[in-house]
Amino acid sequence: MKLAMIGFGQAGGKIVDRFLDYDDRTNGGIVRAAIAVNSAKADLIGLDNIPQENRVLIGQARVKGHGVGADNELGAEVAEEDIDEVQNAIDSIPTHEVDAFLIVSGMGGGTGSGGAPVLAKHLKRIYTIPVYGLGVLPGTDEGGIYTLNAARSFQTFVREVDNLMVFDNDSWRQTGESVEGGYDQINEEIVRRFGILFGAGEVGDGQEVAESVVDSSEIINTLSGGGVSTVGFASEEVELNTSGGLLSRFTGESGGSDDDLDAANTTNRITSLVRKAALGRLTLPCEIEGTERALLVLSGPSEYLNRKGIERGRKWLEEETGSMEVRGGDFPREEPEVAAAILLSGVTNVPRIKRLQQVAIEAQDNIDDIQQESEENLEELVEDDEDELEPLF
Ligand code: GDP
Repeated sequence: MKLAMIGFGQAGGKIVDRFLDYDDRTNGGIVRAAIAVNSAKADLIGLDNIPQENRVLIGQARVKGHGVGADNELGAEVAEEDIDEVQNAIDSIPTHEVDAFLIVSGMGGGTGSGGAPVLAKHLKRIYTIPVYGLGVLPGTDEGGIYTLNAARSFQTFVREVDNLMVFDNDSWRQTGESVEGGYDQINEEIVRRFGILFGAGEVGDGQEVAESVVDSSEIINTLSGGGVSTVGFASEEVELNTSGGLLSRFTGESGGSDDDLDAANTTNRITSLVRKAALGRLTLPCEIEGTERALLVLSGPSEYLNRKGIERGRKWLEEETGSMEVRGGDFPREEPEVAAAILLSGVTNVPRIKRLQQVAIEAQDNIDDIQQESEENLEELVEDDEDELEPLF
């Protein structure tokens, strides 16, 4: 699937930057264009791979390149005011070669949190291709304002995109490690999961065509209907057959029985990977029962993939989710691992979001209280008790 990626804000820019690197390393061909939008000049300068001409600085008149702080209302305002500048960069993308837009942003900050939903709304008005979001939730230790920003951005972003895929920083923090220090690893995890998912169907030169191909329309159909998505992933190292794909099947002295054994092993490996992926750590933790649609992508050297395994994995997912729309296919890649990536689309039983909203409401109430209190305190300080003094004017 070919995507036009737009990283909004610092987290968004860094993740899209990393996607370019991943695409290059894996010869993936999924990032047809990459753009970074920010109100902070320094964040744009810090990127490595996004071309200079695709780095758009917004809000210069208002914040002079210094960013909006963690004020996402200001983030939304400057995005709206400077949407033409973003559009100019998008105009240079051959959008007829793109299957969808993907807007990436951290939802806890200011620029991306406020700006990403504004851009989504704008793009949906102009283009007929889908506009997806990849939104990152802040860690719970980042504090009230980040949680409040994320809760408000989440609500708005879901409404404006065709589907919002969510990644929760909180569940990816390594114990004993700050989220800050772990961003590199977290970002690698993000691009690997979404890279395999979106990479399916993008067969490059010299790569084998999959036995049961996942193509972009299947990804689009899984994401259609809107709502919120999460991604599960599991992988296992395997040995690469360096002397060519099918060799092992033809060299065994005992022929057929070895083949049968191989096939059974392959099927078993795939089914257990599918279970691990669905029941393990999801990008957004949630109950998978009740998922509306799902897509299973099995990637790895083609001799380790088979239709029976995928079929079994698909059936198992149907039972676990209760969904009647579970698609599946393979994605042959000459990497020394077999991986299962599962897109669960239209999830609704997500306690993490409910908790986020609760904490956000508490934070909002606290902020209001504190503001009122500090106004009163200031008044008390400035005004003399008996009101004997007169201000100058
Ligand atoms: P903005 O530039 O104002 O949009 O704000 P940032 O993108 O700097 O931060 C928003 C939120 O994104 C933070 O609260 C963090 O939760 C998260 N974040 C920041 N940088 C990264 C990153 O490199 N990776 C990930 N996964 N999350 C990040």
